[in-house]
Amino acid sequence: MTRTISPKQHYDLIIIGGGIYGSVLLWEAINRGYNAVLVESGDFCSGTTANTAKILHGGIRYLQSLNLRRIKESSHDRQHYCKLAPHLTSPLPSLMPTDRSLSRNRWIMGAGFYGYNLLLRIFAQGEVDPVFLKNGLISQAEMIDRVRWLDPKRVTGAAQWTDAQVNNAERLGFSFVKTAMDAGADAFNYLRVKEILSKRGAVTGVVAVDQLSNKTVALSGDLVVTTTGHWSRHLLSPLCPSIPSTHHFQRAVNLIVPLSLSSYALGLKVKKPSGPPERRLLFASPWQGQTLFGTWYFKGLLPPAEDRGRVTDDEINHCLDEINLTFGNLELTADDCSLIHVGHLPVDSKERLMEKEEIIDPHRHGGPTGLYAVQGVKYTTALSVAKKTFQLLEKRTLSQRPITHRATTSLYGWESDQSDLDPISTLKEPIRAKLSPMTLERLARNYGTVMKRIVEWDVRQPSLLEPLPGTDNTLCAEIPYLLENEAVYRLSDLLVRRMGLGGEGRPNTDTIAFCASQMSSYLGWTPDQEKREISSLIGHYNR
Ligand SMILES: Cc1cc2nc3c(=O)[nH]c(=O)nc-3n(C[C@H](O)[C@H](O)[C@H](O)COP(=O)(O)OP(=O)(O)OC[C@H]3O[C@@H](n4cnc5c(N)ncnc54)[C@H](O)[C@@H]3O)c2cc1C
Repeated sequence: MTRTISPKQHYDLIIIGGGIYGSVLLWEAINRGYNAVLVESGDFCSGTTANTAKILHGGIRYLQSLNLRRIKESSHDRQHYCKLAPHLTSPLPSLMPTDRSLSRNRWIMGAGFYGYNLLLRIFAQGEVDPVFLKNGLISQAEMIDRVRWLDPKRVTGAAQWTDAQVNNAERLGFSFVKTAMDAGADAFNYLRVKEILSKRGAVTGVVAVDQLSNKTVALSGDLVVTTTGHWSRHLLSPLCPSIPSTHHFQRAVNLIVPLSLSSYALGLKVKKPSGPPERRLLFASPWQGQTLFGTWYFKGLLPPAEDRGRVTDDEINHCLDEINLTFGNLELTADDCSLIHVGHLPVDSKERLMEKEEIIDPHRHGGPTGLYAVQGVKYTTALSVAKKTFQLLEKRTLSQRPITHRATTSLYGWESDQSDLDPISTLKEPIRAKLSPMTLERLARNYGTVMKRIVEWDVRQPSLLEPLPGTDNTLCAEIPYLLENEAVYRLSDLLVRRMGLGGEGRPNTDTIAFCASQMSSYLGWTPDQEKREISSLIGHYNR
């Protein structure tokens, strides 16, 4: 099967960049009744979005700067994601020791948490999920009981709060794209925009190149919004050379290690080989049976400029030294890491991380009308930013359309109004009986209500309910379902982002070989192409 790209004749809106920001923007567009298209040069959510530390923040960090607006947006978006995709999100209890310093003083933090709980209630107008109100202080004895290797002399207790965590951030992002596609929007992965077109000072569309066939495609539209992160300046500067150098970016890094350190996310002050610890915090979060450590920030991007994110060996060793000193002498080496996440985050001219998104109108800097650039700073707040973007577009350019009632708008993967539905209970008993509890649990966590369609994909082929070679709980039936329904064109789309298996570390060699051969027959790859796909997937794990 080869894919064909057949765009509509004209769009109200062309969105360039299918990370979480572009994906949610497409969904918002379709909910508002616009005829929109999303164009992504790689796979959906394979850029910085794939490298998030998976935390849906409730905004507690903005208490320090008293940024109430950010607390409101973060806590609202966190709750909204959890409602839309209960299968892909879960509460993340978090702990941060208090000590005798002013910045970690127990009573100051206690007062802060009291105020935070109050704000959550006010912002959610009483409808806040009680799990997110478990914020306060615990005693020194309780903290030491929970984290036994902590030095009791250094802590006076701990602040505890609950955030949310995404188990597959790429799949959650893709769910917005798929929902929009099912409702009539177009979305093309592996289509790279090489030029934004304009005529008489107004945007008219884009020219893009299909990265799979090398064919050129033209799309016509009234408005173009870029959500292309650090790649934006390549697209914008030819049209608008005087645009303030959209942003500077830093690389942000997380390391994932297959060890279970704690059932809490722990934020500890970074220890140094000698002297008191730094004020900076390092987090260790439990994620898919592993521990995700982060986040470190390194200045400058490594060439080539279009890079998806790399770190040097020295930088990795620096991260490991800090982990080993801070988290109880773990003695980890680079070989212990199952994955290294690297993404790009915007910083200001003083190299400080930006706290707030920017919606830039290049027309104000001499560019054409109808062009906007959105630069997000957190996965969490993509929902609020999409709404704000449309408020601006509707004020300036787009004419408002009636909004589909949001409370009933479900997301692909959770096509139900009940957030406590058990997707396993929707399966027919004979099929359910054939699958192990662990397999059912994994399918429910990754696919939600879509698991039913997967296990019932072709009941005449019982072998589809067998585990994939090299796995215990991933089914053969996932491959044909995903190939047929989820815009899968490359091996990493399947294994890393849709199944989530390769998002947790390098899959088993037998699993890779089996999936590659199945994709080969479905997509008509040549033997050489199949080999290239396998080595490109393996390259994904060697940053
Ligand atoms: C290490 C790390 C940890 C983080 N942890 C968290 C966290 O715990 N919680 C949180 O809320 N946030 C976190 N963040 C921030 C969050 O991940 C980002 O803010 C968010 O993912 C940015 O999404 P985006 O859509 O703007 O960018 P991206 O995901 O980079 O998307 C941009 C897309 O544009 C595409 N593109 C570029 N050029 C073109 C072109 N010419 N044509 C078509 N497409 C193009 C790219 O391929 C890419 O997919 C973290 C970030 C990092 C790096």
